Amino acid sequence: CGIAGTWNVEDSYNVVHDLLLALQHRGQQSAGIVVNGFKSIKGEGLVENVITDEKFIPGSCAIGHVRYSTYGSIDEIQPLIAHTFKGRVALAHNGNIVDADERRKFVMENGGIFSTTLDSEIFIHYFSIAPYRSPKDSLQWTLSRIKAAYSIVMLHDTFLAAARDTFGIRPLFYGKFNNGYVVASEDSALSSIGCTDIIEIEPGSIVFFTDGNSPEIIYFGQRNDRFCSFEFVYFARPDSNFYGVNVHEIRKKLGMKLFEEHKVIGDVIVPVLDSGFSGALGYSTASKIPIDYGLIRNHYIGRSFIMPKNRQDIVRRKLSPLSSVVQDKEVILIDDSIVRGTTMKVIVEMVREAGAKKVYVGIHSPAVVGPCNYGIDTSRRSELIASQRDIENLKAYVGADKLFYLSVENYKKVFEESGVKGICMGCFDLNYPA
Ligand code: 5GP
Ligand code: SF4
Ligand code: MG
Repeated sequence: CGIAGTWNVEDSYNVVHDLLLALQHRGQQSAGIVVNGFKSIKGEGLVENVITDEKFIPGSCAIGHVRYSTYGSIDEIQPLIAHTFKGRVALAHNGNIVDADERRKFVMENGGIFSTTLDSEIFIHYFSIAPYRSPKDSLQWTLSRIKAAYSIVMLHDTFLAAARDTFGIRPLFYGKFNNGYVVASEDSALSSIGCTDIIEIEPGSIVFFTDGNSPEIIYFGQRNDRFCSFEFVYFARPDSNFYGVNVHEIRKKLGMKLFEEHKVIGDVIVPVLDSGFSGALGYSTASKIPIDYGLIRNHYIGRSFIMPKNRQDIVRRKLSPLSSVVQDKEVILIDDSIVRGTTMKVIVEMVREAGAKKVYVGIHSPAVVGPCNYGIDTSRRSELIASQRDIENLKAYVGADKLFYLSVENYKKVFEESGVKGICMGCFDLNYPA
């Protein structure tokens, strides 16, 4: 998911709209916005279809959310709004509370009533029952009790708060905008609207934005960085930076390392667009094999309601091969990851149909062998192809002449060498932070 917020920013509705639009890749299932006075607009689908000009709500602070996993009804669309005796609050959450079931049970046994099935609602209940009158102290207490995984923005009558869990699993940034402040999941979203002085929020801290003051930082726990490395591999935009390290540059290095490790040679490198592009460029740079547009991407596909139910057909409508590039060639396809394997199976088939002599598949991350409990679509991951098959089996499944992944060791090395220490790679090595 993607989250955004504003404080003391004129026409916050429009600014949060622009931020969410820049974060659209983090979720296309639903979008929602809450503007001061706690008026909200929510709906299924893309930002452009939900947060429209006609529905403009005036106001100088707001928060918003784009969601990417499936959900039930419109009540389940974030931000959530609640009235507490500590004031009104609205909340948007990126992540996944690991022990949500037990915490819900605890709240309900004590008389709490949930109005959604979202784990995110737990924050609001904890805020309400926290043994403090002050809303700031209540939020600090709440976050010190919930371990992972979250980046949140919370709008209160008297402040905007932005916080990350102590592992810093999900990203969050803020910066200056005109006379106020803006918050977003990725720094590229902030840059896209012309925000300056961008700061990465520290794991284990809350930043409070209040009237007439500069941002106040409160630490609620010891930071122990385990940033999601999959943000670098696939999830985030290439123009985003985490720990001051650019996503595109990391993907290129992963692609270079992949060549160093396997030395697979062919006639042409074809990136699986869009997410495989940077890694393919790295592989091409290291191997000196030319990179070419062997697969063309249709950029207008993406709204699930116009998609056929069959996932194979979705891939065929999204990507199509160029015979002139792949015909009679030994083609090296480079992608960032294989999750269910459907995408790659179809692509290999298409590239063969277009006349390729051989099809080799290189993946610039290790095999995904475990689910993610920290906010990357778990339903997809329950059908992980690599958790059930060895590499030979996998190669046969996707129908490639060669299939090679980056090893866990080399993957880790790329991050260390780039200065990104303390990553999570649980879905690759089953070593989970929480
Ligand atoms: P597969 O068909 O193997 O499940 O999908 C792999 C492709 O989906 C890769 O090209 C990768 O870029 C992309 N991908 C990886 N993880 C995710 C995810 O969590 N959600 C979505 N929508 N795509 C993903
Ligand atoms: Fe990211 Fe994988 Fe860790 Fe989930 S398990 S937070 S996807 S690295
Ligand atoms: Mg992809």
